[in-house]
Amino acid sequence: MNVFEHEAIKPELKQAIKQMGFEEPSPIQEKAIPIVLDGNDVVGQAQTGTGKTAAFGIPLLNKITASSDVQAIVLTPTRELAIQVAGELQKLSANMKLTTLPIYGGQSIGHQIKALKRGVQVVIGTPGRIQDHLRRKTLRLDRVETFVLDEADEMLDMGFIDDIESILKQTNKERQTLLFSATMPGPIRKLSRRYMEKPETVSISRSDVTAPSIEQLYFKVLERNKLESLCRVIDRYNPELAIIFSRTKKGVAELTESLQARGYFADGLHGDLTQSQRDAVMKKFRDSSIEFLIATDVAARGIDVDNVTHVINYDIPQDPESYVHRIGRTGRAGKKGQALTLVTPREMKHLRSIEKEIKMQIPTRDIPTIEEVVEKQQDAWKTQITNVIQASEETSIFDDLTEELLKDFDQKDVIQALLKMNYQTENNLSEEGYSFGETGGAKDGTLFH
Ligand code: ADP
Ligand code: MG
Repeated sequence: MNVFEHEAIKPELKQAIKQMGFEEPSPIQEKAIPIVLDGNDVVGQAQTGTGKTAAFGIPLLNKITASSDVQAIVLTPTRELAIQVAGELQKLSANMKLTTLPIYGGQSIGHQIKALKRGVQVVIGTPGRIQDHLRRKTLRLDRVETFVLDEADEMLDMGFIDDIESILKQTNKERQTLLFSATMPGPIRKLSRRYMEKPETVSISRSDVTAPSIEQLYFKVLERNKLESLCRVIDRYNPELAIIFSRTKKGVAELTESLQARGYFADGLHGDLTQSQRDAVMKKFRDSSIEFLIATDVAARGIDVDNVTHVINYDIPQDPESYVHRIGRTGRAGKKGQALTLVTPREMKHLRSIEKEIKMQIPTRDIPTIEEVVEKQQDAWKTQITNVIQASEETSIFDDLTEELLKDFDQKDVIQALLKMNYQTENNLSEEGYSFGETGGAKDGTLFH
């Protein structure tokens, strides 16, 4: 039996699940929902994009009564996630009489206080702002039946651990506590031991989750050719919508500039942007007016865009956990994704520790040769050239030069020279230092093995 049909789930909730178009439960939903419905504390571990929100959301909403107390609280690491989770819970509760409220920093606290006064059963918020309300006594958690820590590892990374503990201490002791996380670092395990009652662990192994939907590959590159290598990978693998990760803010700025200069539709996201600048970049990415979003790990927190086709690690992450987070941005909601990682010789040790953590070997590919790239790009170039020809005026400033060139050279040679010139300016390529052998390996140490 499909767990969405579970007899304990209220009919109005079942109906909402149908309206949302969920036909089959995801593996984490299948495993976690019955245990949570039974009232157990649960630690759920599964990658991003596996449907964790409904896994806790359905049983949580199922328990809400007509009383106007805050009966459930969900803590999330970022404002964007708070809004998203609130949206999902709102859809799930569309046929129920209850109020959900997202609470996060940056929004007027007065507005939140007013909304809380009117009576809210489910609060979704970031730890900092929740603490704020607790201090002001505008929020009380002594009637909370369900406490959810969502994306717990990200909250840890963002330095919220003390806030979380303090909030837990102010919450009804009889509550049910649920903790969801993509990874389980030490401090999160400790938190679960201290604040949860005999928690049951439900985990969806990474290979279950990553293998079918995310293809992972890595490329050996040299530091000095890294940018060129990235461009070849991009041109060959042709992402529709990609997030490119860089280690530092400065790296994000530089890479954004380089890619824009080469004509790629790209923009960057880093910690120094104001919220409104960040929202503007995210909007461009969401509606696909840029194809490449370049970001640091911190800036990418909370990004949840369903149709990201590629995650590219321009800089390999230092720790395996960030790798898992990064690649979880693609292959979401049952779609296919590719995770491509550039690795320099010095970074091989990071790659090995990632492989150990994810319990699989990531296959390697050679950096695409110029021939492969050209092959892949031919159609795009033909379209571009056709467009230029169709848009051209009768006469142009190049008339005289064209006449002269065609007098001295064969048509074919002229066109080839122009294409070559164009590709070289686009990619700033000289063939020197790119002498790939027939097998794709380098003769001059461009690649290493
Ligand atoms: P996670 O919290 O694990 O990162 P989400 O709960 O945000 O994942 O779910 C990712 C996406 O998948 C959302 O758009 C959600 O609506 C969708 N989704 C969740 N469960 C199902 C399901 N059973 N069938 C289809 N889509 C689902
Ligand atoms: Mg989530």
